[in-house]
Amino acid sequence: MTDLFDLEHIWHPYTSMLNPLPTFKVKRAYGATIELEDGRTLVDGMSSWWCAIHGYNHPELNKAITDQLQNMAHIMFGGLTHEPAIELGKLLLKITPPSLDKIFYADSGSVSVEVALKMAVQYWAALNQPEKTNFITTRSGYHGDTWNAMSVCDPVTGMHQIFGSSLPNRIFVPAPQSRFDGEWNPQDIQELKQQIEQHHHSIAALIIEPIVQGAGGMRFYHPEYLRQAKELCEQYNLLLIFDEIATGFGRTGKMFAWEHAQVEPDIMCIGKGLTGGYMTLSATLTTKQVAETISRGEAGVFMHGPTFMANPLACAVALRSTQLLVEQDWQANIQRIEKILAKQLTNLAQLEHVADVRILGAIGVVELTSNVDMKSLQQQFVERGIWVRPFGKLVYVMPPYVITNDELNYLLAQMSEVVKNMQGANANVLA
Ligand code: PMP
Repeated sequence: MTDLFDLEHIWHPYTSMLNPLPTFKVKRAYGATIELEDGRTLVDGMSSWWCAIHGYNHPELNKAITDQLQNMAHIMFGGLTHEPAIELGKLLLKITPPSLDKIFYADSGSVSVEVALKMAVQYWAALNQPEKTNFITTRSGYHGDTWNAMSVCDPVTGMHQIFGSSLPNRIFVPAPQSRFDGEWNPQDIQELKQQIEQHHHSIAALIIEPIVQGAGGMRFYHPEYLRQAKELCEQYNLLLIFDEIATGFGRTGKMFAWEHAQVEPDIMCIGKGLTGGYMTLSATLTTKQVAETISRGEAGVFMHGPTFMANPLACAVALRSTQLLVEQDWQANIQRIEKILAKQLTNLAQLEHVADVRILGAIGVVELTSNVDMKSLQQQFVERGIWVRPFGKLVYVMPPYVITNDELNYLLAQMSEVVKNMQGANANVLA
């Protein structure tokens, strides 16, 4: 089943070249279906890591790309511009926080985080506070795999602890503990308050994933945390950066997760679902005030400009994907998915080896009491005709929004069976 060339020569995400996990060769994908080379079909529970919000092989998105291809696949963005970048920008400003006004297009989520961090440092340099170069963040966060993005990931669950002291030393506070749907515990903000009080002279910004911490633990926290964090940032002169790369484009039930708290950031990163999962593209948005301050600084410009900045194919498909989303009753659709997730998964919380079940929007998470054996679990999921990729203690789904009720019910029923059967031999703990 696993391709031998692939096994021997091609690195996959977070994979060993000595003992790689098996891979399944995909022939095609359409809607919420992944078809394997051997003809088996899987119901997709992952949206290719949050991206494929409209499912695969969508006729409208295919058309957006092929139409754009007739004009140009790419053109440099230095000194030139184009319709897809402009029209996408206009639409993005309509759906992101009102105070955000300037858009920087970048190539991937990690790069948009690098851009956000650089903006914050340049901002304070322009205001003659060059000592404000550090960042504060919470534990259990995840912001990407490039150097500075790594430095603000949770040092343990963020998958980067191996880099240890080679990474810049950031200030970490405990992850918010008050649950999204629970009581607010005022203690939750205390450590952030103390650290900001103590170190604000050296801190450029607080960076955080609003409401949902993704790859660092799939945790949903209380909106009050963001409201109080914003107040602290204002009081102590820190910029506030929201990483909405995973949470954006309706996934949590709001277009962007900041809306749960009605707290606007100074800088916001978006990516993943931006192109409907077709191509890699991200954007870092900021306020007029931040952008103009940077531009008044010594450098006079913002110091970043990737080769593939605002790639026209990516912008064209992002524009169509975002139009598709806003043109439909997407909120009702997310609520439909949320209801089914709740109905099918909530009971799993009663199992002894399940620590927690949580659902928000089109995200369903089953947290186990110990790490899963990814290889065994992945194999079982595929045998049952579903695509779910667990990590650590987490078995979770975030399906494409086009998934039908029948597909979703099937996906969750099969996933639940595997989780239920884990009590015995399958509840292996990875070393
Ligand atoms: N931030 C968050 C919140 C993410 O979930 C991710 C991707 N998992 C990233 C940043 C990095 O994005 P990319 O993989 O596109 O570089």
